[in-house]
Amino acid sequence: MIISQPCVRSCAARQTIACGSENGAGRRPERRYNLGRRILGIPLVQQYRVARYILGRKLRGVKRYPLVLMLEPLFQCNLACAGCGKIDYPKDILQQRLSVEAALSAVEECGAPMVSIPGGEPLIHKEMPQIVAGIVAQKRFVYLCTNAILLAKHIHEYQPSPYLTFSIHLDGNRERHDESVCQEGVFDKAVAAIRLARSKGFRVTINCTLFQQENPDDVAAFFDLAMGLGVEGIMVSPGYSYQHAPRQDVFLGRNASKSLFREIFKRGRKRGTRWTFNHSALFLDFLAGNQAYQCTPWSTPTYNIFGWQRPCYLLTGEGYAQSFRSLMQETEWERYGVGRNPLCNNCMAHCGYEGTAVDDAFAHPLKALWRSIRGPRLTGPMAPDLPLVYEEPALQAPAPSEVKIPLSEVRSAANREGRRVSGA
Ligand code: SF4
Ligand code: SF4
Repeated sequence: MIISQPCVRSCAARQTIACGSENGAGRRPERRYNLGRRILGIPLVQQYRVARYILGRKLRGVKRYPLVLMLEPLFQCNLACAGCGKIDYPKDILQQRLSVEAALSAVEECGAPMVSIPGGEPLIHKEMPQIVAGIVAQKRFVYLCTNAILLAKHIHEYQPSPYLTFSIHLDGNRERHDESVCQEGVFDKAVAAIRLARSKGFRVTINCTLFQQENPDDVAAFFDLAMGLGVEGIMVSPGYSYQHAPRQDVFLGRNASKSLFREIFKRGRKRGTRWTFNHSALFLDFLAGNQAYQCTPWSTPTYNIFGWQRPCYLLTGEGYAQSFRSLMQETEWERYGVGRNPLCNNCMAHCGYEGTAVDDAFAHPLKALWRSIRGPRLTGPMAPDLPLVYEEPALQAPAPSEVKIPLSEVRSAANREGRRVSGA
């Protein structure tokens, strides 16, 4: 299992939980042992620490616990991707930065063993090296999610470590990725940055978001290419339909997502390809339509310049808590998830469902082991979706044009609380 997550559009595929599932699509996974330190593409120290953390919560009877903190230190980016749900803020918001002190306090307050840093583009933040070093010093595993445009310029500010992974946004081959990020030449920069980071001994994953009209053959070829670059693993997610993303026609529906993943995995299996995913085996099985999971958004809480975002990284209009305790204890969690809220019905993002899959693996270890050996089931009927239970008009999804981020309320709340943020 792994966890990382980025600007879920892709920067969010950029984030997952890693109980690494090697060859999630293959029947006979090839285990990789690297000097006795790594299995399944994830360092043993990470597997051990995360498993120990989860077991500790289970033994103490903790029902809701965080696995991955999504730490958003800024919203500003040097790209403007079509499916991005993070950059549509006014200039004064985009210029704000989470301070080092605020970022590290949030990491400690949350206590999650893994921290994903999406954005915006984190490498724009001048104090990002200090933030990363501070989290590594706490012995938490950092996934620094970047579009890689600035990586060559800043890579000397970071030290290779088992606790640090560059999670690089790459949505497909050259044509597909450059179209996705709405700028030519970005694919080549990202590939060069991956090679550079690997040559310097950094852990590197890619995070990939899939949208409408993806061709399974092209995606399979892209996964082959990514593995050939020497990355540790692939994080993949269907794009979440942000209601204020620049384009709304790019997102996959839930059934289309499941069918697409089955077709991609079939191609990997047919070719005997070895793909390493930074996802649990049961999450991959969920993507292939075989698990009727409910969302567990508290497994990946989000902290940014506004506070603790309710309920998850993706929904931006549900308000903010001023402490992690308040987020966990006062959020109406039962209002969110598939069938419970129209805003959630097309969501299959790892920030909602990887934690569910990990919980399921601890509850049913033989099932998880079987799926990690066999890979996801790719034929037969899909698991039925959970029933719709919402009726109240208040929970009906607003039309996209009606969705507003409560900026004025958020600004005044932040001012009242004296939140530790600074301008660019
Ligand atoms: S605009 Fe920036 S933050 Fe948004 S998806 Fe693209 S790279 Fe990520
Ligand atoms: S299902 Fe809803 S609450 Fe869960 S991650 Fe998706 S958008 Fe967030």
